[in-house]
Amino acid sequence: VQQLRLAQRPEGELQPGDFCLHRVAAPVAAQLQPGQLLLRPCYLSVDPYMRTRMHTSGYDYIEHWQAGSLLSGWTLAQVEASADPRWQAGDWAIGHLPMQQRLIADAATLWQQRSEAPPLAYMHPLGMTGFTAWLGMQLGQPGPDDTVLVCAAAGAVGSLAAQLARQAGARVIVAAGREDKRQWLQQAGFTEVLDHHHRDFLAMLAQWAPQGISLNFELIGGQVFHGVNELMRDGGRVVLCGLVSQYQTAQPRQAPANLAQLQRRRVQVLPYVAPHYEHRLPEFRQAMPALLADLHWQLDVLDGGLEAVPAALIGLLRGDNLGKRLVRLE
Ligand code: NDP
Repeated sequence: VQQLRLAQRPEGELQPGDFCLHRVAAPVAAQLQPGQLLLRPCYLSVDPYMRTRMHTSGYDYIEHWQAGSLLSGWTLAQVEASADPRWQAGDWAIGHLPMQQRLIADAATLWQQRSEAPPLAYMHPLGMTGFTAWLGMQLGQPGPDDTVLVCAAAGAVGSLAAQLARQAGARVIVAAGREDKRQWLQQAGFTEVLDHHHRDFLAMLAQWAPQGISLNFELIGGQVFHGVNELMRDGGRVVLCGLVSQYQTAQPRQAPANLAQLQRRRVQVLPYVAPHYEHRLPEFRQAMPALLADLHWQLDVLDGGLEAVPAALIGLLRGDNLGKRLVRLE
């Protein structure tokens, strides 16, 4: 079977040559130890943080990749054989798994699809992107007095967070980098839709929100973050979720130079990474299925198996995707 590895640590923009495919012997059911499953990965989640794992350091909750590392990601897999009494062949499993066509995993590390929701919902609103969006809104606590800003709002986390803020009664201004993305946001019911790549973005935002932004759900970093800091309302909040525009630079987590502006306006900065909040997963699993009925969610599925993953990630980091980007593995 094939597996996908990092060929070399990329410098700057990721290139197809930074990846390589390897062949290893296929695992078989006879190798299963008690509590293990033989899995056939079907869909792989492609996420911006994957690029940050290719830097030499940064996060402490996840291992950094180096030349030769076997890559991994959130995966929806079907059970082919089970040595765990709670699982059967045909069940859907969700977990952070190596990028390999067939593999053996410990059942205890996997989520089991149990609800009526389609299995693919676990790769987006009921999975890690949904959890991230939900957590961000738990931290930011949007309400009717808020003017919320979400840029990259036609992406996976942004689209859900913006809708959750709206459900909580806030006014939500959204922004996205392409016309079809902005149309999708309009179809999802947003009436105030901007382009955060446009040179007049900040001027328009200032016009639309003369009282300022009270809650910025930050996904992009760089110039957008810097600019929006200037427009924050006194006593506002920045929920710092991601800095995707910096992930391909040498300093992927650089703070904007105008942090003093936040101090002056007494803005609270609430940074988080979802893996630090695993203890809140049960609460999320309880809450999200009921919220799902009113959420628009879009998948952006590319075909081509493991071979298609490098281009899928390179494209994601350029903004090609509308909705949650996945690669169909089989
Ligand atoms: P998205 O589906 O939002 O895809 C990324 C989007 O970001 C693109 O579609 C594009 O939207 C925008 N983008 C990409 N590159 C750039 C760039 N160079 N400059 C400006 N915009 C860019 O991905 P996710 O929803 O998975 O992730 C969104 C953010 O949330 C990321 O920063 C990610 O790291 C973060 N995140 C954080 C987590 C946490 O635990 N804190 C967990 C998961 C995600 P557009 O065309 O509209 O600009």
